[in-house]
Amino acid sequence: MNNFENFGLSKKMNNALADMKFVKPTPIQIKAIPIVLNGSDILGSAQTGTGKTAAFCIPIIEMLSKDEKSIALIMMPTRELARQVIDVINQLTNNGDKIKSACLIGGEALRIQIRQLKDHPRIIVGTPGRINDHLENKKIDLNNCTYLVLDETDRMLDMGFGKQIDKIFKYLPIKKQILLFSATLPDKIIELSKKYLHEPERVAIKSDNVLLTNIDHNILNIDHNKKYKELLNQLSTREGSVLIFTKTKFGTQRMAKKLCEDGFKADALNGNLNQNKRDRVMSDFRFKKFKVLVATDIASRGLDIDHIQHVINYDLPQVAEDYIHRIGRTGRAGSSGSTICFVSSEEQNIWDEIYYLLHPDTAKKPKKTNSRAVRKRSRESLRQKKPTRSFSKSNGPRRRNNSIIGKDTQKKSEGKKKSNQKKHSKNTVSRSTKTDTGKKEPYSKTNSRSASKKPFFSKAKGRSKVSRHSSR
Ligand code: AMP
Repeated sequence: MNNFENFGLSKKMNNALADMKFVKPTPIQIKAIPIVLNGSDILGSAQTGTGKTAAFCIPIIEMLSKDEKSIALIMMPTRELARQVIDVINQLTNNGDKIKSACLIGGEALRIQIRQLKDHPRIIVGTPGRINDHLENKKIDLNNCTYLVLDETDRMLDMGFGKQIDKIFKYLPIKKQILLFSATLPDKIIELSKKYLHEPERVAIKSDNVLLTNIDHNILNIDHNKKYKELLNQLSTREGSVLIFTKTKFGTQRMAKKLCEDGFKADALNGNLNQNKRDRVMSDFRFKKFKVLVATDIASRGLDIDHIQHVINYDLPQVAEDYIHRIGRTGRAGSSGSTICFVSSEEQNIWDEIYYLLHPDTAKKPKKTNSRAVRKRSRESLRQKKPTRSFSKSNGPRRRNNSIIGKDTQKKSEGKKKSNQKKHSKNTVSRSTKTDTGKKEPYSKTNSRSASKKPFFSKAKGRSKVSRHSSR
């Protein structure tokens, strides 16, 4: 099945695929398209970058064009992903009778969406919260919804959309075909699938089957307060568009501003921005109006911008799986890309989890600390005990003393931190020992470069080295 024509798709669809320059189906398309055309449910584990969007959009559009009554509902966690899916649908329905679609996402005027809904769209794409708002206001009728896609379902549940999804199911007819896709299949996804799916066919696409190839991975052990200087260093040596991930929404804004002051065209993307601003930032980045996008994990899933050449993990993600999504933003559609990950001693635990996720067969299983609840608790206790970090206008990252803590507590926590750092530098061979000497200068370019030529995560001497690896 290495040709779209073998699926028996309509001429219109084949023309649309030819216009999109899709010649060969991807592995997930080869597996999923016949199943959907056959009428079965799917429980799919696949990441973005595999061609997943077209894998569900192609057969759904085919089916909708054969049955004029039925409609499809496609849900995903973020507004940006919803827009991308709408883009694919528009391209696939460009030839011949246009199947109307509507995009229902938060942060956008309700009345524009209500206007779209009055036009009887056959494909409704959106985020669960906004879809629910329209259902509760009786603006959508889902009685004829015979196709339901839950995309990036693990992320939807992580973001707390579980209840909204349950509510939406109450508005759907009993007889429907459900396609559930998730990058990971934890217990809660399996439970959800048992609750709603009917004898689903399993479709699993391994990460090495994704379209994206040639991503160079680098890791750099570094003190947190040296990260910003190193970032400037890295940016000055990298050509092309760069996506930087930081932990906090506020942090993205400050860093983008600071980078502009330091001579790099940059902007920030985070969930605090209103939809207009988010759209403008995305569109400017897409059209290369600036080089560096600083974002929270809002940008880690699904963003499909083919000119992102570098992903810099300035702060590690809170959840190990998000690392995979972050690095998937580069090397899109087979182009080459590179990632670098700044790991401070405080982030070693989460790095161990990421490393284990990447190398389950060879890495030692880390102690389970990655539940959001545990991290939230530890963050809260840290807030009581430790100085917090942020970016200072003048000097990049800075430490800000928490006014609640007294001097004694502060000294204790600093002492504890120093001993942790000692422990860390003992465990980490290599670059961290070089930078942890107390010298004010961050890594030199030569250091970064030469170190990056070492093998990636060479287990024996520690995954803490700057190292390189090609995957996907
Ligand atoms: P997705 O996983 O849906 O985000 O798709 C990742 C990228 O692959 C997008 O840029 C798609 O346009 C592209 N793509 C999807 N299917 C194909 C295909 N059969 N041939 C070439 N490119 C594809």
